[in-house]
Amino acid sequence: MKTVLNDLVKEALELNATHASIVEVAKIPFSEDFRKQCEQNSCGCYDKNWMCPPAVGTVSDLIRRALSFKQGLLFQTVHQLEDSYDWEGMQEGQANHEKVFRKLLEHVKHEDIFAQILPLNAGPCMYCAKCAYLTGEKCFFPDKAISSVEAYGIDVMNLLKHYEIPYSNGPNTVSYVGLILFK
Ligand code: SF4
Repeated sequence: MKTVLNDLVKEALELNATHASIVEVAKIPFSEDFRKQCEQNSCGCYDKNWMCPPAVGTVSDLIRRALSFKQGLLFQTVHQLEDSYDWEGMQEGQANHEKVFRKLLEHVKHEDIFAQILPLNAGPCMYCAKCAYLTGEKCFFPDKAISSVEAYGIDVMNLLKHYEIPYSNGPNTVSYVGLILFK
């Protein structure tokens, strides 16, 4: 088991994650306050995606679900921007982070030693160009849909701090975090 976990960290770093660590779910800090930021629509995705609030479920149910897992792979990708207003660079960074996330998720699934996996990423599910939620249809790809760490009430800043990963990585960079829980 230890070798598999070490390999996951190694794989994340080989895929250009800047930081990666195996985390214990018991050490993940949760706070329902982060869900309030979703409800205040601070990222503009509230009520627009099956994997975001309110459709994804209540925060208490999601925290309970996350706590049923044992460990996870936490990783962060860092992307260079031209300047702090480089919106295109941020979007490109997010798309690159998504590619790393999906590759790592496939790797975790192929390990075949985990009975259950719960992938949580930065921001809303971006698998489809337009989420089915917007047209009142069922999720097109339930096995590919991924919720956000924020929807699960995870205090990302303190989680990173606990594992000695910087929350931000200097001027003119953007950082994204992924967390794949397993048991
Ligand atoms: S897989 Fe597609 S339809 Fe389902 S939550 Fe993600 S973006 Fe929406």
